[in-house]
Amino acid sequence: MLNPNDRRYRYPFINCTDCGPRYTLIRKTPYDRPQTSMAMFKMCNECQAEYENPKGRRFHAQPNACHACGPRPELLDGKGKKIETDNPIAETARLLRKGKIIAIKGLGGYHLACDATDETVVSALRERKKRKEKPFAVMSKDIEAIRKYAEAGEQDEKLLKSREKPIVLLKKKNELLSKSVALGFNEYGVFLPYTPIHHLLFADDPILSALVMTSGNVSDEPIVFDESEALRRLGGIADNFLVNNRPIVWRCDDSVARTVGERIFITRRSRGFVPAPVFLRRKLPPMLACGGDLKSVFALAKGKTVFPGPHIGDLEHAEAFNSFRESVDHFKSIFEIKPEVAVVDKHPGYFSSNYGRSLGIPVTEVQHHHAHVASVMLENRLEEKVIGLALDGAGYGDDGTVWGGEIFVCDMKGFERRFFFPLLKLPGGDMAAKEPWRVATYILWQMFGERFKDAHPLFVEEIGESRVNNIVSILKADINSPVTSSAGRLFDAVASLLLISHKNSFEGQSPMLLESIADSTVEDSFEFDISGEGEIDFTKMLGKLVKSANDAGSIPNVSAMFHNTVASSLLECCKRLKRETGIKDVCLSGGTFQNLILLKYLSKLLESNGFRPHFSRQFPINDGGLAIGQIAVATSSF
Ligand code: ZN
Ligand code: FE
Repeated sequence: MLNPNDRRYRYPFINCTDCGPRYTLIRKTPYDRPQTSMAMFKMCNECQAEYENPKGRRFHAQPNACHACGPRPELLDGKGKKIETDNPIAETARLLRKGKIIAIKGLGGYHLACDATDETVVSALRERKKRKEKPFAVMSKDIEAIRKYAEAGEQDEKLLKSREKPIVLLKKKNELLSKSVALGFNEYGVFLPYTPIHHLLFADDPILSALVMTSGNVSDEPIVFDESEALRRLGGIADNFLVNNRPIVWRCDDSVARTVGERIFITRRSRGFVPAPVFLRRKLPPMLACGGDLKSVFALAKGKTVFPGPHIGDLEHAEAFNSFRESVDHFKSIFEIKPEVAVVDKHPGYFSSNYGRSLGIPVTEVQHHHAHVASVMLENRLEEKVIGLALDGAGYGDDGTVWGGEIFVCDMKGFERRFFFPLLKLPGGDMAAKEPWRVATYILWQMFGERFKDAHPLFVEEIGESRVNNIVSILKADINSPVTSSAGRLFDAVASLLLISHKNSFEGQSPMLLESIADSTVEDSFEFDISGEGEIDFTKMLGKLVKSANDAGSIPNVSAMFHNTVASSLLECCKRLKRETGIKDVCLSGGTFQNLILLKYLSKLLESNGFRPHFSRQFPINDGGLAIGQIAVATSSF
């Protein structure tokens, strides 16, 4: 592509059998050109000859194309009017340098791009996209450029350069990039160019060192992948559109991963990975696992093969739920699987579960946290009983309450709930997950009764007396205050009690800020208790946290101690279970374990106490891994 003597010099859709799009182009199987969105481009003689030559690298490369016969880029203004230019990509690079926001059509959808070193345009993008605080992903030309602003070790480099080219989470090195890229966080999500267009953009302007490349959507809606939709939905956001005339048939978001030592953790498994299958030990009837409603991912299975679907997002959005249904149908058709069983989360109100229940085929229901643990068992080939630690924001519990801090003894068939996180109340229901100060108020009120305002005056001052009073009256009347054992809500509340963050403008924001501020070199922890019923009791710790927030104690210090205390309490539960059952295998799962301080410290504690900690590798540790766990549980009954 960069060889001026090649007939594909600067051709932005160059590909061969080892690279280029596949999943996002397929309408039907078998994977042949007429069944893809390349059908409308008739190959020129030269391309046709390459396509037919069994010795060439483009033999049966379905998207094979060139300047003469293939798709072309085009630059549009903000209203969708074509801009006349010989070189739309070079012109795009020029506009990016000038501080414009450009919607760029990629492989599985649109990105919104801008210069990541230009604070004015990055904050304008936040404003227009209505994404106030969630960090933006950043793309740089090569690993050297990345290392100017982020720390990338050997494993990170391997992952960044891998065929799948995921977004990799890396530690911030300095303030070279605009502060609005990831305000308050000590990490960046970074990736390398993965399409010819990306490479050309950087080639055309060597000064562009880092581009924000965030999904082309408004707040949490699914990523936009079609021209008219792009103009409609991104019209107010992008100054220009770099489009092309090759339709994207299926949307597919960027994947996200990180390394911890030698290990890779995938937090979003989508572009580059989907639809690669996973193989089971046991044969299954054709089945569909519907996953959960947040970070929705489904999976289709048949025989010993499982096909996990792409990341779809939050099914609460109508667009996402449509995408879920369409993608399930697409997978059914391309893999020729007619599900005979639907496996769903037990939740009575999940869109995904109700979809499965509506199919008119037998339904298997799986408890949310059991699915989390089972996904780890499946990947690690564990078939005997294990200790399962499932920590997350929320999942429907067997007793009808919201669970989320669960310590099980389980196998794939079933589980016993042996310990659980402190029971908290969620004043205002779902609102409490968005506003951690509500749960913090509950904790204060429960610990100190009517005197709580004297115990934590700074908290009351920050939140405002009337809002706090309002929560107390909700609690006193016991209206709309469901009970939860959620670990996520505990982390939220601690972030709020320590005056670090009182709201979640995206899922996990407060726990992430709490983790970011912690001094990970601290090894101390607080005391804790465990009740006769198995409830972990952090009252002593919470008292100390409140005290240090008011006495100007060291927040990085106490935040670290909080993480360590959570890990120590989990270790204590495991020790008690090991004494009783002899089990040494511990499976860690659920979104809370995306917290590295907790994950690393707990693994270390477990290992030094004779346990074998296990995690998922190929699948997300968060709800994106539920479908695989659901399949695992269903497998045990066939
Ligand atoms: Zn051609
Ligand atoms: Fe979960």
